[in-house]
Amino acid sequence: MARIAVSPVASRLAVQTIVLHASKEGARITASGQAEPNLTSVDHAAASWAPEHGEPAGNGTDTLTASAWQFRPLKTSLGVLAVLGLRGPPGRAPIPAERAALAESLIDQAALAHERLKLELDMREVEVVRQRDTLRATLLASLSHDLRTPLTAVTAAAEAMRPSGEDADLVETVRTEARRLGRFLSDLLDLTRIEEGAVTPDFAATDLTDVVSSALADLPRSYAHREIETTIDPNVPFVRADAVLLHHALLNLIDNALKYSPDETPVRVIARMGRRGPVIDVLDRGPGIPIGAELRIFDRFARGETSERTGGSGLGLAIVKGFVDAMGFGVEASRRQRGGSRFSIRIPKDAVVNIDLEDIV
Ligand code: ADP
Repeated sequence: MARIAVSPVASRLAVQTIVLHASKEGARITASGQAEPNLTSVDHAAASWAPEHGEPAGNGTDTLTASAWQFRPLKTSLGVLAVLGLRGPPGRAPIPAERAALAESLIDQAALAHERLKLELDMREVEVVRQRDTLRATLLASLSHDLRTPLTAVTAAAEAMRPSGEDADLVETVRTEARRLGRFLSDLLDLTRIEEGAVTPDFAATDLTDVVSSALADLPRSYAHREIETTIDPNVPFVRADAVLLHHALLNLIDNALKYSPDETPVRVIARMGRRGPVIDVLDRGPGIPIGAELRIFDRFARGETSERTGGSGLGLAIVKGFVDAMGFGVEASRRQRGGSRFSIRIPKDAVVNIDLEDIV
């Protein structure tokens, strides 16, 4: 490709050409008109100088003029992709003055050809990644679907068992583990739906007070002994949201806050009006997010050291982010100054619904 791109330069200007690409080991010759020329150390210096400075170097320029070659950086919108070397016949400058304009335009064309090739290669790579992602999502979806039926049967059988004596412990283990597997499968299904872009929010005017109270009501019974303080600013407006997705996201955050903080510490849930729109905060006094992990923990299968002990899958926060993103909201994690984590769901101002009370009356 490089050879084709520069062949008009060679024939129209009657010069020898080479193309060099920058690599970690220095400039590497990727195409040359004739047999690969032997470049001297001055030639190499000029070939490296040109792309570094974005200016011509070598014969007929202001820099490293001892080189028999003139090196021109092939500048594109993607940066300097290669450097083109030109060498005139003995005793002649690579680019005679009367052909300077022609040379400029030929070199620009060669740069454009390089840019196009680079873009095409990038596109091809993106396509390969996309196909691999689709395949993975399909596999995941069919796997979680196929596992659901047998798991439902196991769960139902385990719940119906009435064991006595030492069998009770064994049956309890089957029950808890089957429930956990069930949660994991439904998380996997949610995640594949998010990744396929199949989550389409069902928007309606939503009261954040209801979202908070329904999330609290849905917490597992095992947290009944925990203290949860809620503060809801009465000025928080209704928002345009999918109540089910928001409920699911908030429930996950509160569940994590309880899971990752000591029993004797309270968890706080706050709905307030921030500067850029309504915010729901979930605060705890646990170990907090590891420094620098504020973004990474939202990746799928991101799990902290404590996750294994608590039976985590590393999918919860990825689902929270997927649901929140689908509604056009944001979610972020940070460390609290005096210890613990803060997770905030941020709702943009344009999602605020102005309900005219007179309409309702
Ligand atoms: P899981 O809890 O199943 O491991 P999540 O996606 O819900 O997966 O969370 C990812 C990781 O983020 C957790 O393993 C944990 O290390 C960290 N994390 C989540 N919430 C909190 C929190 N409130 N406090 C401290 N760490 C947290």
